[in-house]
Amino acid sequence: MKYVFGPVPSRRFGRSLGVNVVPLKVCNWNCIYCQLGRTTTFINEERDFFEEKEIKKEIEEAVKIFDYDYLTFIGDGEPTLYSKLGELVKWSKKIQDKRVAVFTNGGRLYLDKVREDLSPADVIKVSTDAGDERTFRIVDRPRREITFTKFLEGLQKFRKEFSGEIWAEVMLIKGINDKDEELEKIGEALSTFNPNKVHIMAPTRPPAEKWASPPSAESLIKAGKILSKYVREVNIIDYVERGKFYVDPKNPLESLLLTLKIQPMTEEEIREVCAEYNIDLKEVMKVAKEVEFNGIKYFVY
Ligand code: SF4
Repeated sequence: MKYVFGPVPSRRFGRSLGVNVVPLKVCNWNCIYCQLGRTTTFINEERDFFEEKEIKKEIEEAVKIFDYDYLTFIGDGEPTLYSKLGELVKWSKKIQDKRVAVFTNGGRLYLDKVREDLSPADVIKVSTDAGDERTFRIVDRPRREITFTKFLEGLQKFRKEFSGEIWAEVMLIKGINDKDEELEKIGEALSTFNPNKVHIMAPTRPPAEKWASPPSAESLIKAGKILSKYVREVNIIDYVERGKFYVDPKNPLESLLLTLKIQPMTEEEIREVCAEYNIDLKEVMKVAKEVEFNGIKYFVY
């Protein structure tokens, strides 16, 4: 299949059947953490990238074959730049009965058509990595016309009109948007559109800019505490966002400790990895530090 992939396991979306509607790497942002690399087609106008009927044909086939929880529209860039996204979302709701999600940066929600295109979906995942114009320009590097105010107003309008769930993702970069004052501003921005859930993330794959490194596990926990003051549900997302953790089998202990440096894990999760990769649990617990978030005990390194 050319457009449909998976289903892939996801902590947030269960088994997610993905549909990629934008070619590499067409985006209206150029995030420093983007795992697809730097944006090569930097546009903010929608385009007719692919044949809509070809995508529909694949979706029709895939929904019959696979067992999945979400049909998820994404792109090797920003999916709202595909001119037929609205039609696909509306049609997907009619031809199958699972929830439909769209992963967008949210940068085009100030446009009436984009809000209308996304309205039939069940869940819209947006990005909120900054709480002001300065940090927005440093982390997300959007097209000039997308100001932070315009971006936030788009999210606020969408919240008022949209009956589904909005999940906000906050990607934290060490030394840039993980400081207390930045987090307070991000919290304030989130509170203006009241997302149903907030997911705190850290870059886990090679980012567009080498210097965009993940914050420490302690910073992630601290971010969780700060953002919890502003929004109802805050989650820290696991290292590779899979149903289970993977470590390098050649150096399992080292690899697990590296994971614990950027991703807090529960004791049970550590136990599972140790059992699977034959790691001495005592060795890990000897060096791991306990931290608490939302009443749950995590371990970091
Ligand atoms: S919005 Fe998404 S696709 Fe676009 S640059 Fe940022 S992370 Fe990459």
